[in-house]
Amino acid sequence: MTALDFPTIAAIGLLLNIGLAAGFSLILLVLRSQPVPRLWAASLWAGAVSTVLVSVPLPLPAAVGILVRNGFAVLGSVLMLFGVALHVGRRVPLRPALVLGGGYLLAIAWFSVARPDLGIRLALYSVLIIIWKTWEAWLLLRHAPADVRRSCRLAAAVFLLDAALFLVRALIPVAPGADGDILRAGLSMNVTYVGGMFVMLGHTFALVLMIVERQMVDLRRLARRDGLTGLLNRTALMGDGEQHLAQSLHQQRPFAAMLLDLDHFKRINDTRGHPVGDEVLHHAARTLQRSLRGRDRLLGRYGGEEFVLLLPDTGMEQAMALAERLRATLEASPLHREGGTIGITASIGVAVADAAPGLESLLARADAALYRAKAAGRNHVACDLGVEPAPLA
Ligand code: GH3
Ligand code: MG
Ligand code: MG
Repeated sequence: MTALDFPTIAAIGLLLNIGLAAGFSLILLVLRSQPVPRLWAASLWAGAVSTVLVSVPLPLPAAVGILVRNGFAVLGSVLMLFGVALHVGRRVPLRPALVLGGGYLLAIAWFSVARPDLGIRLALYSVLIIIWKTWEAWLLLRHAPADVRRSCRLAAAVFLLDAALFLVRALIPVAPGADGDILRAGLSMNVTYVGGMFVMLGHTFALVLMIVERQMVDLRRLARRDGLTGLLNRTALMGDGEQHLAQSLHQQRPFAAMLLDLDHFKRINDTRGHPVGDEVLHHAARTLQRSLRGRDRLLGRYGGEEFVLLLPDTGMEQAMALAERLRATLEASPLHREGGTIGITASIGVAVADAAPGLESLLARADAALYRAKAAGRNHVACDLGVEPAPLA
């Protein structure tokens, strides 16, 4: 690698850095308002500027030039770290990053002005990158949320490879006769640039991969939720419910389903307007969620003002008791808003799984029970006629 012509390598390296920064920035055209891709794009640009400044001398005193290009390198590192922290849901480590980055720049200033020493400066940079990349990899490995862990682990591997590269570089002495000129530092700078180009490509792809996986997870999550109430939507409820039901039947454990329908909801829409109807739906959903906290259950919005509650490990007696409690809770939890209090009641139909498979048929029985609850005057609970419930205490 000593035979390689450093100016040529540096030129290719800086073109690659600029190209990757520009290419990565295109992501921002699609994901406009997301902070993490922005931080990473800014970090790549800061790194690219620092690389350019290695090859293109500034019309400044040498020591100032050294500080400026190192300043950009530190800025790039800080922005990358902040993006990584945000990506894994941690607070940005502002103070330690500033202390480490600032300390590094002070040391660089010392060894370029007071006691100029290219060897020590290169060693300091290696140490900085080793600490920094290991820090980022640690954040990714230790704190990545489970659903985006795969891309985070891959990125951590690339970051650690980067740290390893600088560990190797730290062991290579500066070429004799470099005379303080980084362009003549020899093998150690060749290693930095040749290995750096290789790692840089992997690094940028790892960033893209993390963004893609995060988007996929976010979209998948959104696609499962009802926009108004935040409960599971019908598709997610039926998909998950079918699995839970099959599992319960397989293990010969009971499984209950409840259909809850708000009473005379149309009147609320008609008298107070659709937006108030929406508020009532949201409030009813929150009330149900609160009442069911800590319980193994699936709660979803089945249609307009109908909710479904699926309960693994629950027999008819328990389900009827719970339905009665939910009915009473809804009745006791009106929506208080400017312009008056709006009472809410619901009718509830309850059914438990029998040998016949299929969530559709279970819900059809719950629906028949709901119809009877409505017929009984609303604000009522009724069970599927196939099962005799024990009398409620
Ligand atoms: P019942 O006691 O028999 O259930 O009477 P109801 O008025 O609740 O039942 P009905 O099925 O006649 O009316 C349901 C209404 O729910 C009709 C529809 O306009 C309203 N609705 C459905 N989805 C939404 C929604 O997302 N927001 C609002 N505000 N209203 C909705
Ligand atoms: Mg209805
Ligand atoms: Mg209704």
